[in-house]
Amino acid sequence: MTAVPGTPSIQVLDTLTVNQIAAGEVVERPSSVVKELAENSLDAGATHITVEVESGRGEIRRITVLDNGSGMIPADAVLAFHPHATSKIRSLEDLHRSLTLGFRGEALASIASVARVELVTRPSGGRIAEAWRVVMEGGEIREEGVAAGPEGTRVTVEQLFARTPARRKFLKSLATEISHIAFVVESLALSHPRVSFRLVHNGTERIRTEGDGDLRAVIAGLHGVDLVRALVPLSLEGGGFGVRGYISKPSEHRTHPYQVFLSVNGRPVSSRQMVRAIRNGYGTLLPPHRYPVAFLDLRIDPSWVDVNVHPTKRQVRLSGEQDLLEHLAAAVEGALRTQDLIPSGTAEAGKVPFQVPSGAITVPAAVPAPPRDRGELSLRAGRQTEQQLRQTELPTGIDEERVPLPAMEVIGQVGEAYLVARTPDGGLILIDQHAAHERIFYEQLREKRELGERSQELLTPQVIQRSPRETTLLREYLPALIRQGLVLEEFGRDTFAVTAVPVVLGRTGDGAVVQEVLGDLLSEGEDPSVTTEERVIRVLACRSAVKAGAPVTPEQSQRLIRQLSRTSNPYTCPHGRPTMVALTRHQLDAMFRRT
Ligand code: ADP
Ligand code: MG
Repeated sequence: MTAVPGTPSIQVLDTLTVNQIAAGEVVERPSSVVKELAENSLDAGATHITVEVESGRGEIRRITVLDNGSGMIPADAVLAFHPHATSKIRSLEDLHRSLTLGFRGEALASIASVARVELVTRPSGGRIAEAWRVVMEGGEIREEGVAAGPEGTRVTVEQLFARTPARRKFLKSLATEISHIAFVVESLALSHPRVSFRLVHNGTERIRTEGDGDLRAVIAGLHGVDLVRALVPLSLEGGGFGVRGYISKPSEHRTHPYQVFLSVNGRPVSSRQMVRAIRNGYGTLLPPHRYPVAFLDLRIDPSWVDVNVHPTKRQVRLSGEQDLLEHLAAAVEGALRTQDLIPSGTAEAGKVPFQVPSGAITVPAAVPAPPRDRGELSLRAGRQTEQQLRQTELPTGIDEERVPLPAMEVIGQVGEAYLVARTPDGGLILIDQHAAHERIFYEQLREKRELGERSQELLTPQVIQRSPRETTLLREYLPALIRQGLVLEEFGRDTFAVTAVPVVLGRTGDGAVVQEVLGDLLSEGEDPSVTTEERVIRVLACRSAVKAGAPVTPEQSQRLIRQLSRTSNPYTCPHGRPTMVALTRHQLDAMFRRT
C-alpha cells in the first residue's frame, strides 16, 4: 500500500475481514466445522447428533449437523452469528466455572465468514410452533424467516472456503478430509457415550453410536469387540479429580499413541504429558517405545483447567498439573493391579514354572456372539478368531527331517493366552497361542503364491496418514508390502490409500490392524540384518496371529496344534521365542518330590 500524504495508512479492518482472520484459527478445514457445530449441539443438551457430509468431484460440498437440543428463539438465531455472541458465559469468571465446550462465541461468526450457512432452529419443549431460518453468506444475513422444522437445530454449511482460495489450497484429498471428520465424530462419541452420534457420508452411515451410556459398546462399535476384550476398566474419584474409562491390558500395545483417546470434562484433548503419565502407570509392563490403548475421560474442577489456550481448544492447560499427572499414573497402575495382570514373580526354568489353581483352566464354549445392534464392524471383529484359524490350513509339503511334535491333546486354556495340553506319557505342554499362530502364518506367508490368492480387495479404500518422515520410510516397504498383498497407493502428501489387504489379516473392515502393521514396520530398533521382505512377513504374521487375550475354542486349539505340527519349525516363533514349554512326567514327579 502506498502512503498518500495526509491520509492515514492505518485502517480499522471491517468485520468480515476480522472474522475471516479469526476463521483461519478456528476453521482450519472441514472437520473444524463439524467439531464446532457438534460441540454447539452438545452444549445445547442434544442427545442425538447427526453429521451428514456430501461430497462430489473430490470435494466436500455440504456439511449438515442436526441436533435435538434446546434450539433457539428467532432473536438468538440471528445473534448467534455475531462475533463474540455467546449464551454460555458472561464474564471471565464464568469461564473458570464453565463446563460447556464453547464460550468464545466465535465459531458461527467465523464459519459464516468463510461459507454459506443455513441455520434452522426451533426451541425445545413446545415453546414455539415453528422454526426460524437464517441464511448467511459473506458474513451477512441473506434470508430470514419462518420455516418448517423439528425442535432442535440444523446447520448446513456449503461453499466452504469458496471466498478464501488460499485456505482451500491447503486442503488435502477428499479421503483425508473425511477421515479427519470421522476422527472428530469418533472422539466426541467416545467422550459422550450418553449421546447418540451418527456420521453419514453421501447417504452411507459411517459411524453410529447408541447413546445408551455404555462406553464399552461405543468402543466396540468403533474399534471392534476384540479390542474391548483387551481392555480393563479404570475409575478413580476424589480430591477434585476423577478419571473413568478403559485402558488396554499390557499385552495390547501400539507403536504410536494413536489409540489414546483423552477428554477433560467431556472435551477431547491431546496431551503428551497425559500420554506419558499413562505410560508411566504401566511401568515396565509395556515394552520400551510402545504405547497402550486408552479411552479416558478426566473430571477436573473446571477452575483448574484453562481451555482458552488455543482457539480450537484441543490443548488445555492444567493448574497443579504435576499432581494431576501423578494421580493419572497412579489410577492406571491401580487399575492394572486390581486386574491381577502384574506377574507376581518371574518363573525361572527348572523351578516351579507355574501354578494351576483349581478352576483356573477354562475352555470357553465359543467366542461370545456380540450383541446384534452393535453394528457390522463389531460383528465382523467377533468372528475374527474363528475365521483366522480357519484360513490357516496349510497345504502339505512337510519337512520330514525336522523333529516331530509329540502327540498332544489340548485340555484347556489359561490366561486367555496359553493352551494347556497333555501328552500320552503323562507330560504337560503349555503353548503360547499367539507365538504358535505366528509361526503358522509366517510359513504360510513365505510360500510363493499369486497376489490374487493372498490379497483381498477392500470395498472402500482405507486412508492412512503418516508423518513426512514415516512416508519416506514407508516408501521403502511398498514393494514388499504389495508382494504380500497389502496394496497401498500413495496419493496426496503423506497420505496412502489401502486398497487391498492380505487374506491372513482376515478382517477387512478393521483399519487398526493395517495401522499396527505399518506402525511396527516404522518403529526403530529392528535387526538391520533382516531384509525388508522378511520384516514385512514377520510383522504381518505377528499382527494377523490370534492375540493373547483371545478365547479359543477346543476345536480351534486342536486345529492350531495340527497346523503347527506341519510347520518346519514348530518350536519357535519367527522372532525366536518359544512357542511351547513342556514338563515331562519325570519333571512333574520331581516337583512333587515323588522321585
Ligand atoms: P459459543 O459456542 O462459543 O458460544 P458459537 O459461535 O459456536 O459460540 O455459538 C454462538 C451461540 O449460538 C451459542 O452460545 C448458543 O447460544 C447458540 N447456538 C449455536 N449452536 C447452537 C445449537 N446447535 N443449539 C442451540 N444453540 C446454539
Ligand atoms: Mg460453539
